[in-house]
Amino acid sequence: MNEMMTEPSFRDSVDRLFNRAIGHMSLSPGLIEKIRVVNSTYTVRFGVKLRGDIFTFTGYRSVHSEHAEPVKGGIRYASSVNQDEVEALAALMTYKCALVEVPFGGSKGGLCIDPREWEPDELERITRRFAFELIKRDLIDPSQNVPAPDMGTGEREMAWIADQYHRMATTDINARACVTGKPLNVGGIRGRTEATGRGVQYALREFFRHKKDVKLAGLSGDLRGKRIIVQGLGNVGYHAAKFLSEEDDAKITIIIEYNGALVDEKGINIEEAKAWMNRHGSFEDYPHGKFHKDTTGLIESECDILIPAAMEGAINMTNAARVKAPLIIEAANGPVTAGADEVLRSRGTVIIPDLYANAGGVTVSYFEWVKNLSHIRFGRMQRREEEARSQMLIAELESNAGIKLTEDFKANFLGGADELALVRSGLDDTMRGAYSNMRELWHEKREKEPDFDLRTAGLIIAIDRVAETYKSLGL
Ligand code: GLU
Repeated sequence: MNEMMTEPSFRDSVDRLFNRAIGHMSLSPGLIEKIRVVNSTYTVRFGVKLRGDIFTFTGYRSVHSEHAEPVKGGIRYASSVNQDEVEALAALMTYKCALVEVPFGGSKGGLCIDPREWEPDELERITRRFAFELIKRDLIDPSQNVPAPDMGTGEREMAWIADQYHRMATTDINARACVTGKPLNVGGIRGRTEATGRGVQYALREFFRHKKDVKLAGLSGDLRGKRIIVQGLGNVGYHAAKFLSEEDDAKITIIIEYNGALVDEKGINIEEAKAWMNRHGSFEDYPHGKFHKDTTGLIESECDILIPAAMEGAINMTNAARVKAPLIIEAANGPVTAGADEVLRSRGTVIIPDLYANAGGVTVSYFEWVKNLSHIRFGRMQRREEEARSQMLIAELESNAGIKLTEDFKANFLGGADELALVRSGLDDTMRGAYSNMRELWHEKREKEPDFDLRTAGLIIAIDRVAETYKSLGL
């Protein structure tokens, strides 16, 4: 029998992980069921006239929990999109937002389409039509449901959606807050594109601040020199790999893409490799390292850290037992199936779970939404005032105390925080805070139950927060 047959669907996999967490909690069966279920999934089939014919597309917007509104979650474009996947992803959004204290419920959308098959102006017409269908049912709305980019979508699609909403709600002064991940010139925020990858970096930095946790993964020291495998060099994988190698001196030794992998024990230059990929569509003939057309088994290679940053289910029951990484950080949503999770847990592999590891995206989306509602850029009021105070301090130190400060120090110290600095600071604070909550519970429970893991800790915290909100609402 094919081993994959025993693998549950993505939605069932999320439920299994949910049930494990629930087993450690004392919630009423009724409340558990209320939290677990997906509240609604809207399926739309719409036709668009293209290339002289009518093409019918299927799209979804699923709302998992409305305990907090608006509900939040990306819109994915891929030919593999289906209801089960969208619902699983919507549930993950609920737990993710709750864990990092982003005041949103969970939602997710998807369109069954291979974006590479369409020209930009065709994609625009398809996106606008899909957005129209969702907007007219309040499934895109600044106070009800706020989408964002996901696999296969980015700033461009978000700008089309924002404009479509604006056309249909011309008097809504908060129209821009109907979607996040927009380009800067139509209400986006600095640091949103890099946010999920940046969050992965901050999560790893935080993990390595705790010697006890690092030791549990069988590792030592800090990120310097750590050998990392990155699966998927899309927006999340690219930014995580870039920041970790350029700023933390980690070594990206393997990048696995859907059409081949690049292996270089000396460490891959991410900017160069990405530029090659963009130009040629694959790593083939890249002048450094070794290209592997067949990527089978590469995810199982020796390394210190494995970053799955592509699709769900990359680590499943067919390969989990062979995965050698002692530390896995889930940059993608659901990259480790519930079955694989069990295998890895029993072997002591430490997994930094998706609901925490990739929460950087929605965290900065939250900042963008707040920016849109306040109609002012973060830092605009206080930046120069902060600068003037620093100037005063420097003048005082140099003239009265006779301390000579270097020009470099002065330049760094002087500038008040701009929007990007504030976004990164808010993100770093969020990632540190959520990790410290998770690890506290992790270590507490591990004393009696050695295979108690970070994912279960994160889920317990998240589910408890959702439960408390429902209770306050009188449910
Ligand atoms: N699609 C991203 C995620 O899975 C971002 C969601 C958002 O910003 O709303 O977390």
